[in-house]
Amino acid sequence: MPLRCLSQHREGDTAGESQNAGNGGGRLMRPFILDHAPNAAAALQLAAMTPSGDGRVQYLAGGTQLLDLMKLDVMRPERLVNINALRRDHGQINADSHGLTLGALVRMADAADHPRIRQDYPVIAESLWMAASPQLRSMASLAGNVLQRTRCNYFRDTSWGGCNKRRLGSGCAALDGVNRRLAVLGVSEHCIANYPGDFANALVALDAEVEIAATDGSRRWLVFEDLHRPPADTPHIETTLAPGDLITAFHVPAGPWTRRSLYLKIRDRASYDFALASAAVALDLTPCGVVKVARIGIGGLTARPWRSHEAEAILTGRNLDEASAEEAAEAAFAASVTHGQNSFKPELGRRTLVRALLEAKAMEIS
Ligand code: SF4
Repeated sequence: MPLRCLSQHREGDTAGESQNAGNGGGRLMRPFILDHAPNAAAALQLAAMTPSGDGRVQYLAGGTQLLDLMKLDVMRPERLVNINALRRDHGQINADSHGLTLGALVRMADAADHPRIRQDYPVIAESLWMAASPQLRSMASLAGNVLQRTRCNYFRDTSWGGCNKRRLGSGCAALDGVNRRLAVLGVSEHCIANYPGDFANALVALDAEVEIAATDGSRRWLVFEDLHRPPADTPHIETTLAPGDLITAFHVPAGPWTRRSLYLKIRDRASYDFALASAAVALDLTPCGVVKVARIGIGGLTARPWRSHEAEAILTGRNLDEASAEEAAEAAFAASVTHGQNSFKPELGRRTLVRALLEAKAMEIS
């Protein structure tokens, strides 16, 4: 039996835009339907019942971001489908000789604490440990984490009119505004928002795949790097998911580079903060330090989870030392585009990557 619930919205809002700075903060309640799905098939069926478009239906797991954005009136779903009961089928962690499989409903804290992940995939464990707060990590699901949305101030505050991500064609207030935290790689003239997550940067570095169930009953595996879209001229469309698509699992293939891996996160404060720059690095080295394989993800200053194939190509076959690491970092940030306040970020990103590479080389691998 669906429940009809109420969330807050501000008086005078119309779908797609809020111009409420002068309305005295008057608030009405915005109705939505809350359903509870016992399994994936039921969740997909419920999602299919809602007309597609504009995020009208949303899956509810930890709710750590969705409910925030509903309270802020940024997201306005008509139907929430509670999928927490799916943890029975999609809440397991399996590590074997083929790799690591993570159910979409695994809690961040459970994956971060998992002994096998900490030993064999430290970049995954560290990216989760360094994210959010203990309370949030205990609630948030892995799938919800990879789908988190930007913290661009203008996106989260509906009193600002100019945000192409909230309303396409309204402009981008961040281009000439407060943009210190925003992206320098993968941006467009329509949006310079940064992708705020950490775990996704580790997944992209490790060639992960994501399993997706569709409302027509089909399932498919997608290379994780293809899940998030560049902003281009449609920054409001952030992923390649179709309406109602449900993420059910992640798979990280095994490889000799996963043990020598780490996540380095640079931020204003040491906990409960988003990255200004981050690097997810995995290396397979010869005994004398020559790079056989390098896997490099970059975060904090990119428009989406970012793989630096340029840096990997420069390192492959080279002795890893400060000079080759700096050359790789130079290539990784060669395409940077800055906007005033965030012009410090390419240099911060380069230094972060160099440090991550050298620290990964120095790891003691048992
Ligand atoms: Fe909106 Fe993107 Fe511009 Fe931020 S950077 S104001 S999210 S369009």
